[in-house]
Amino acid sequence: MTTSPRIDLDRLLRRLDTFNQIGALPGGGNCRLALTDEDRAGRDLLVRWMRDLGLIVTIDAIGNIVGVRGGREDLPPVMFGSHIDTVGTGGRYDGLYGVLAGLEACAALNDAGRATRRPLALVAFTNEEGSRFPPYAMGSLVYVGGLSLDDAYAVRGIDGATVGEELRRIGYVGEASPGFLSPHAYLELHIEQGPVLESEGLVIGAVEGITGLSWTEVSITGRSAHAGTTPMHLRRDAACAAGEIALFVRRLAQSMGGHQKGTVGRIELYPNLVNVIAERALLTVDLRNPDESLLQEAERQLAGFLDRLAAEEQVAITTRSLARFAPVAFATEMVSLIETTARELGLACRRLPSGAGHDAQMMARLCPATMIFVPSVDGLSHNVREYTSPRIVARMSVSEIRDCHFPHFASLMRATQATEAAQRQPPPPFT
Ligand SMILES: [Zn+2]
Repeated sequence: MTTSPRIDLDRLLRRLDTFNQIGALPGGGNCRLALTDEDRAGRDLLVRWMRDLGLIVTIDAIGNIVGVRGGREDLPPVMFGSHIDTVGTGGRYDGLYGVLAGLEACAALNDAGRATRRPLALVAFTNEEGSRFPPYAMGSLVYVGGLSLDDAYAVRGIDGATVGEELRRIGYVGEASPGFLSPHAYLELHIEQGPVLESEGLVIGAVEGITGLSWTEVSITGRSAHAGTTPMHLRRDAACAAGEIALFVRRLAQSMGGHQKGTVGRIELYPNLVNVIAERALLTVDLRNPDESLLQEAERQLAGFLDRLAAEEQVAITTRSLARFAPVAFATEMVSLIETTARELGLACRRLPSGAGHDAQMMARLCPATMIFVPSVDGLSHNVREYTSPRIVARMSVSEIRDCHFPHFASLMRATQATEAAQRQPPPPFT
């Protein structure tokens, strides 16, 4: 007997809780950096849950986990999912929510005895965050052929280990070639990680595309000297130069306005001592803009500033690109599908771009893709307060979750079943 699929909210929340015990930080938040023991424990749990639901689990050579639920016809599958790794101080929804929502969608279809026409492929991509190993979205990038396996394996992380070593160590080098399934369409449910939906009282975001991104590592070499005896005008101070760059990046984004963003998120000084002028500084610059020509303009201005700064401060400055992705526009029929489905379900929805990178931006090179955003309370993510602030906990009442989150799975399922209509489009430009 078949019935209408119904999401079991308690089951989903239980799974979220159970999963988030892995890598839980004292005081709140989660740390499951890619390819660590915590990541492995999460992978093991996910694989077990997938198998319990009868999904056929395949691991590919970059460690992406794909669980397939068969369809009535032998057609390319509709793929959905996200990632289960976190940043060092992550919250409980980023990535995981999309994967466990997809798992719940499969469970609900099982419970209802429903078969979909196309197979469904639930995926958890490797190393989406990129905090331990750049670039971000590594698993999906390799999946779509944008980064070779060997290059990915050779990436050295912030702790010195390589992706290849760590993948082998945790036992997640699978036999399948990345890209072994060519999906009909890809759909990713994710928290917004920003304040727009919440501030406008909306519950669904139909994501039109992903902002372009440029990550640069800047290395500055000056001269270490005594902090008490070296006259100010004779210093070659790498720390001061690093500070100038941080301020320039902020002013650059402010002066360009629009959607331009600029962040210096990491500065390391050597020897990092109270009474020694810094000899070296290593920092990162993150520039983003949904307009490729404006992003290039920001990059040009940064490069010009670094040249001037090196001369003024008498330091040597070198740069290395850590990641560079052009903006991606999602397939319009997929974005419309999210809007239509939201409207049918009576959910307030708007279109918006994503300022954060996601696996969907890589998958868009392979097939029509889009994302469903749900509100982030206080717009917070990449922050342990993504769920632990008392204010958030108080507001995140069960009834709010019921109102706010329950229909999204219906939306996910409906959209998943309806993507048959999606037309294949030429892949977006690849840089
Ligand atoms: Zn994420």
